[in-house]
Amino acid sequence: MSYIDEVIAQVIRENPAEPEFHQAVREVLDSLRVIVDRNEAAMRRVALLERLVNPERQIKFRVSWTDDSGQVRVNTGYRVQFNSAIGPFKGGLRLHPSVNLGIIKFLGFEQVFKNSLTGLPIGGAKGGSDFDPKGKSDREVMDFCQSFMTELCKYIGEDTDVPAGDIGTGAREIGFLFGQYKRITGSFEGGVLTGKGLSYGGSLARREATGYGLLYITRQLLRTRGLELADKTVSVSGAGNVAIYAIEKAQQLGAKVVTCSDSNGWIYDPEGIDLAALKTIKEVRRQRLTAYTDFRPNAEYHSGRGVWQVPVDIALPCATQNELTLDDARALKANGVLAVAEGANMPSTREATDYFLENGVLFLPGKAANAGGVATSALEMSQNSERRPWSFETVDHKLEDIMIRLFANIDEAARTYGLEGNYVAGANIAGFERVRAAMNAQGII
Ligand code: NDP
Repeated sequence: MSYIDEVIAQVIRENPAEPEFHQAVREVLDSLRVIVDRNEAAMRRVALLERLVNPERQIKFRVSWTDDSGQVRVNTGYRVQFNSAIGPFKGGLRLHPSVNLGIIKFLGFEQVFKNSLTGLPIGGAKGGSDFDPKGKSDREVMDFCQSFMTELCKYIGEDTDVPAGDIGTGAREIGFLFGQYKRITGSFEGGVLTGKGLSYGGSLARREATGYGLLYITRQLLRTRGLELADKTVSVSGAGNVAIYAIEKAQQLGAKVVTCSDSNGWIYDPEGIDLAALKTIKEVRRQRLTAYTDFRPNAEYHSGRGVWQVPVDIALPCATQNELTLDDARALKANGVLAVAEGANMPSTREATDYFLENGVLFLPGKAANAGGVATSALEMSQNSERRPWSFETVDHKLEDIMIRLFANIDEAARTYGLEGNYVAGANIAGFERVRAAMNAQGII
């Protein structure tokens, strides 16, 4: 059995009931065969792959909090510090009822390669809880966040591990988490969390960064094929942070976005999504998407899934993992899609990804396409160290530059190994090479 197959088998054996983690490891290691096969003996000797797939540290803890009726509730908190070879651990906190250790491990593993691709000094981590902020009062969310941080604060720090937002963790939650960290440690350590509010050390353009970065890299991809975003029709899934700012930048670049979704249903607006209405519903009122047709009576609301059945030129999945299946991929292709770029983490199933690669659909994986968020978090850390905020334009230009360079790197890595146009392989290889060099330089740890 090859070294890679042995390690995949070991991951499955030692981490049972963690299918998303298996999926992420398999996808990355499959693309590294071209490197590992050439260096197998040396890599085996230092157990490089075993160290790569085993997190440096995993923390699991109880989070007790009190609801508005006075009832005590208990959730589980996680922080998986995956790899710090190239910098302090860095990665978001997900608050969603589906969260379990396997999901946090898949996200942490992906984060290692994504952070490496940004070219910035940040290692990979992820955390979160099965707490659901939806439908909770501000006081309940604060109580949860304070309890969560009371444990987490023992393991983080601006040079150690720097958490950020993710699904369910937005500006409100980051504010409560930061306040509690400051209260416990007695120090204003700005760089310990990113995604902070602008009044206390946050970065302009961080809120927009993942969505904007997704569009910058998609535009770059299209340009290599002599295409432009202007006048293209786009479908987006999700209606959260990534989706909203992907829609905003797509519209600014002249594209027409006709869909968005939440976990209950989806919108088809043939005249183009009304962004102001969407922001009011999701950012101000925290409502469900059913409210959209109050603003736009001609739009259609459908319950369940269906975004990928709409004919478009470009598809941008921005909701959650495994939301785009093989059937969806076939429908997109049959309807003439040119490109798919992942705003979410691993939104396409492995079968869907393979289908795109084998059927001539341009495909950018999430670890490259959504890296603008964490890259801008690293820019927030720079501003915190410097104690000086940068303008929106400065951050936005740096973000655009990072995404253009990132695309060039993954394109080059794919070509180097004879896999031209395969950006899944390109991203995994380019992300891995930097981490491997740092791990080798630092000895056996
Ligand atoms: P938000 O919580 O702001 O929004 C998530 C959106 O996806 C919501 O519309 C939500 O609908 C929908 N959604 C969540 N879970 C499901 C599900 N199981 N089925 C269907 N829809 C679902 O999160 P973000 O926008 O921040 O994150 C979206 C994705 O992007 C995630 O994969 C995240 O890991 C990734 N990402 C985020 C970054 C960031 O900077 N925020 C950076 C890089 C990646 P509902 O409200 O109904 O639950």
